Amino acid sequence: MTRPVMACLDLEGVLVPEIWINVAEATGIGELRLTTRDIADYDLLMKRRLGILDRHHLRLPDIQAVIGKMAPLEGAMEFLGWLRERCQVIILSDTFDQFAHPLMKQLGWPTLFCNTLEVDQSGRITNYHLRLPEQKRQSVTALKSLRFNVVAVGDSYNDTSMLAEAEAGILFRPPDTIIKEFPQFPVTRTYPELKAAFCHAGGLRP
Ligand SMILES: [Mg+2]
Repeated sequence: MTRPVMACLDLEGVLVPEIWINVAEATGIGELRLTTRDIADYDLLMKRRLGILDRHHLRLPDIQAVIGKMAPLEGAMEFLGWLRERCQVIILSDTFDQFAHPLMKQLGWPTLFCNTLEVDQSGRITNYHLRLPEQKRQSVTALKSLRFNVVAVGDSYNDTSMLAEAEAGILFRPPDTIIKEFPQFPVTRTYPELKAAFCHAGGLRP
């Protein structure tokens, strides 16, 4: 029997814009644009970000207000609806529950595995907790052991081990550096292209 397809989607850059970039733009704090491309050590990057928020007296509700004004990428809701009619979908993200909440609401509450922020009573973000080291790749490994045919989609470095672990990995709007370093993954730039890649990789109906 053929195994059912499980779609594992990255969130930022695939369904919604980059959250930290939007927060940087809305608050005018340029330093918050730092990403894993600037500081490869994720723990160092997050500690820097939390320090910046503290210095500017930005609390969780302030950040959530910014995120609440963000919308999914154009066409993302239609694509997600299309995909959910054809297979099971899990969003695997390195963001945090508290940040994702307003966007998940707009996306119709799809299943999300992500991380958590520690917040004190005043709303100050005091720390962050990774749910599981390498959770994207580990989730794919676990889903394969449950006999799913995993098709994964991502756009960045933090997705490449998940794409490699899946039966099929697809890049969506990646930077050129990723395309050069990972030529084994097909590149898609529009949702119709991504749908076609799913049909090809997972045998989904068009
Ligand atoms: Mg991403």
